[in-house]
Formats: sequence, C-alpha cells, structure tokens
Amino acid sequence: MKSVSQLKDTLNRIDRRGYKAYRDIQGEYCAGSMVIAIDHVQADPFAAPSRLRLIFERGNLDLPDPRSELERVTLEDFLARRFRDAVKSGTSRGPGSGKSGAIQIDAGRQEVLERTACRVSPETVELRVSAGLPAQGRTILGRAADTLLTEQLPELARGACVLDQDAQREARYFLDTITDADAIRRQLQERNLVAFVADGAILPRESGISDRPMWGEVVPFRSPESLRVELERPNGGPITGMGLPGGVTLIVGGGFHGKSTLLEALSRGVYNHVPEDGREFVVTRDDAVKIRAEDGRSVVGNDLRSFINRLPLGRQTDQFSSDNASGSTSQAANILEAIESGSRLLLMDEDTCATNFMIRDDVMRRLVPDDSEPITPFIDRVRQLYEQKGVSTILVMGGAGDYFGVADTVIWMNEYAPHDVSERAQALIERRKPSAGCDLEPVHRVPDPSSIDPTRRNRTKTRARGTEELGFGEENIDLRQVEQIVDPSQTRGIAEILVYAGSKGIIDGRRSICEVLDRIDELLRENPIDIVSNFRGHPGDFARPRRYEISAALNRLRSLKVAQRR
Ligand code: ADP
Ligand code: MG
Repeated sequence: MKSVSQLKDTLNRIDRRGYKAYRDIQGEYCAGSMVIAIDHVQADPFAAPSRLRLIFERGNLDLPDPRSELERVTLEDFLARRFRDAVKSGTSRGPGSGKSGAIQIDAGRQEVLERTACRVSPETVELRVSAGLPAQGRTILGRAADTLLTEQLPELARGACVLDQDAQREARYFLDTITDADAIRRQLQERNLVAFVADGAILPRESGISDRPMWGEVVPFRSPESLRVELERPNGGPITGMGLPGGVTLIVGGGFHGKSTLLEALSRGVYNHVPEDGREFVVTRDDAVKIRAEDGRSVVGNDLRSFINRLPLGRQTDQFSSDNASGSTSQAANILEAIESGSRLLLMDEDTCATNFMIRDDVMRRLVPDDSEPITPFIDRVRQLYEQKGVSTILVMGGAGDYFGVADTVIWMNEYAPHDVSERAQALIERRKPSAGCDLEPVHRVPDPSSIDPTRRNRTKTRARGTEELGFGEENIDLRQVEQIVDPSQTRGIAEILVYAGSKGIIDGRRSICEVLDRIDELLRENPIDIVSNFRGHPGDFARPRRYEISAALNRLRSLKVAQRR
C-alpha cells in the first residue's frame, strides 16, 4: 500500500494539468491509523463525484459492540449519520468548478435502514463517501485536492467514527431503541396482533414535506383502555400502548381528527425509526402493505376475478393486462400483488381508495343488479381474506357505516384521541352475510427474464429520481403511488436488486415473483447488501427496499411479461 506522502507527491505532480490526470491517484493510501481508498475517479468536474472509502481498524475505535446483525446494521446507519452531520456543520464546498470540493455520504432520514454508506465488519469500519475533486475549469487544483483528501476527509471521518463518552452513550441508546422496536415487532406475532402504538407516541409530522415530528400543540397518543397491552423491551423495560388484533379494523371519525395520520404512522411502522422520531415505538407487522387506487398504472397478466369479473365487451379478467388501469382495477391489482408477494396486512385510507371498489350500497344494488356489475366490492371480500387467507385489513373509513358489519375492531378518532367503539358500532348494524364464495388463491406469475431489460444502447442504465420514479433501461417506472418507499436510496436499491436478479439468473423464467423475492431475501440474509451492487468503485449509495416494494416496481414495469402458474 502507498503512503499519504506518495499521494501528496502525485497531486503535486498533476497540479494544473488536465482533469484526466486525476486518474493517477486511484488506489489505496495509508494515513496513520486510517486507510484512504480512492476507488473511482470522476471523468470531469461536472460528472458524478469520485468515490472514496475511509477505513479504520475496528480495534482502534471505541464503538459499542453490536449484539446482533440488526445492531450492526444500526451502528452503520448511526456512523453514516454522524459523518453527514460533520459535513453539514463544518466544511463548505471549496472554490472551483462543477462539484469541486463537495463531500457526500448517503445517510438516512427518520427510518433506520440497511444501507451501503458504512460497513462495520469484525476487523474494520468503512465509510463510503463521494467527493468532487477540485478543478478550475478543467484544470486540476492539486493543492485544494491535497487539503480535501489528506486533511478534510480524514478529519470528518475521525469526527464520525471516534466517539467520546457522550457519543458512545448516544450510540448505545440508538442501538437499544432499534433493538427494542424489533423486539416489539416479534411479540406482535405471538399475541396475534398486527400493530402496536405506544402510549405517548407522537404521530403527526412537522409538515406535508417534512417527516420530522410535529411540535407545539400535539396530542400524544393514548391507547383506549380495552385495547391496551403491555409488551416487553429488552432494554427499555415494559411498554404499554394500543395493540391492534388481527382481523378487520376500521378507523372512523370526523374529518381532520387524525385518522390518516394514524394510518400513515402504521404504514411507516414496518420500518424502525430513530430515537426522538415520535414513532420509534409505533410498530407494524413487517409485511404490511399500503394499498391505494392508482389509475393509469400498468397491470400485467393478473387474475383479478376475485374482485372484477365480466367486463363489458366480454373482456376477460383471469389474465388481465392494461397499460392504463382504472381506479378499481388498479386497486384490485395492488391487493392481489401484495398478497402474492406474501403480505398478510393491508392498510387502506378512504382518501386514496376507489369508492366503487370499496362499497356498493343497497340502493345502488336495487337499481344496478349485481350480475351487471363487474366489481365485487372489497366489503364483500374483506372477511374472506382474513378467514381463508389470514390477511388482516386496517381501513380508514369515515363515510360508510356498512363496514361495521364486517369489522372486528372499530376505533373512533376524536380530537386525535382513539376510542374503542367496536361494540357500539356492531350493535348498529347486522353482521354482513358472507357473499358468494370465490377462490381467493392468488395466481402465481412467472416473470419472463427477457422482458426485464435494464439496458439502453447496450449499457445497463438505471436512474432513481427520488422516491418517485426509476429509470430502467428504456423505461421509467412510476413509483409515485408506492408509498412505502421512504428513502430515495431504496429506489436505487430496487434498481440494483432488479439488475442483479436478472443478470445472476434469479429471474430465470421458472421462478414465480414470490420465489424470486424469497431468493433475494435469502441472499440478503446471508450477505451484506453490497453484493447486489453494480456501481463503479464502492457501492455506497443505496438502501435495502422491502420485498413488497421490489415487487411493486417489477409489476409497474410496462415491458414486463409473465406466465401464470396455478
Ligand atoms: P383525518 O384523516 O381524520 O381527516 P388527518 O390525519 O389528516 O385527519 O389530520 C388532520 C390534521 O391534524 C393534520 O394536519 C395533522 O398533522 C394534524 N394532527 C394529526 N394528529 C395530531 C395530533 N395527535 N396532535 C396534533 N395534530 C394532529
Ligand atoms: Mg384523512
């Protein structure tokens, strides 16, 4: 390995030369207790910044010892945040053109995710960062590069990874919080609960564009007595809150009384949250999928018959495809795909559901007979989903009391406080008779690998645009309505995983979508997420998506072709 003084010599030599000469600094350099690895050098000052790793020996750092894989991933997340905070508070971007001097790490937001930005192994701690190598126009600024690479970056990395006593306590608390949330999630299953909302949780967010907790006049969550459970936390001790049982749960109440806010917190509860988020002990089964109507989406080869049958003009729905699905067909497809991918908990909000998919009232049934209506509304399937398939539903429904006839639990949100009104609601209405039976077995679909092509002009080309869209080869996958992609790095993660699954023959024309997802989960259980990376240099730019969001992206790929398997 070369030494830092060799790096300095090279920078001195290429000072004032054309930008391409930066290539010469690629390599690994020993800098005292740290290694600086320059993995990929950008082609010009305006290109994506260069990729570097800053590597410490683990033994030289006083880090808390992760007691599980989860704690290791959490520690990685924690250190990446510290590096980002150090960048924010310290250095400003240096002078020069393009991205000169800009330093970045792909750290997280309110959710704690497995990500590639930092890697803690038994021997080392590695920060994966990017930095713009300084230039004036296209002329190398060797001195500025020297300062950036041999002073600023090592300083920032030490700031992130060397913990004083306070920072050590903070790190331990961070790990303990995540471990506790995970322990709560494990207890849900044992107690036949689907979600838990801790007493004292702060659910509303600062604003429509900020995911931080609301401050000022906030009503902390307080469970209704009848639904209160006490769960164990290995670190924080026992904790009380609302335990939602499996089955059909309605959230009712007047407009603006906090229904959607509660559902949104449950939808995010599949992820772990940073301490002080307010939702760190709002925990949902990890297979919960938020369902909504999504007109315009593409649907490929799905069997929608449990919800939609006998379309006009004799259109079949056992192999339904559309590149412009309606509100109701898109919502049906979203449900069936979630179940096909393994979800056993559906979350829905009337704000974003198709009314004709949710309900058909008796007056309407008198005018339009059932046999000329293609849609079997969700109200006629929701119990069957639970009783036959074990799929629970949590539904925000302020406008239609008919659902009382199929609900197990009814929660009334009033002034942001939940009340258990299950008995009162059920007394108002007769139990709804089960509707004509129908096979709810979701069809298994086998994707055709040749229809999933990430290349453009013979080169693999994927590009994430926030959490909204994924450029994939010639196509753009619309992810705006896939609400549980919570971090742009997950969009990049989906791209990496799809490319990997295609190129490594995981999508092989024999495995169904569910089996592909199983195989990916298995691989990522046994290996760090780095293995799916196709990045040049180090892989420090993406986070792990859940299998349901990988499936959602695949299902929205317009070129997709599938074969059904029963
Ligand atoms: P609904 O779906 O019942 O119409 P929302 O969940 O959209 O109501 O909430 C309405 C408003 O109230 C939102 O601006 C939200 O931020 C705020 N809000 C929600 N829960 C609380 C709470 N516990 N304390 C204070 N404000 C809240
Ligand atoms: Mg609402």
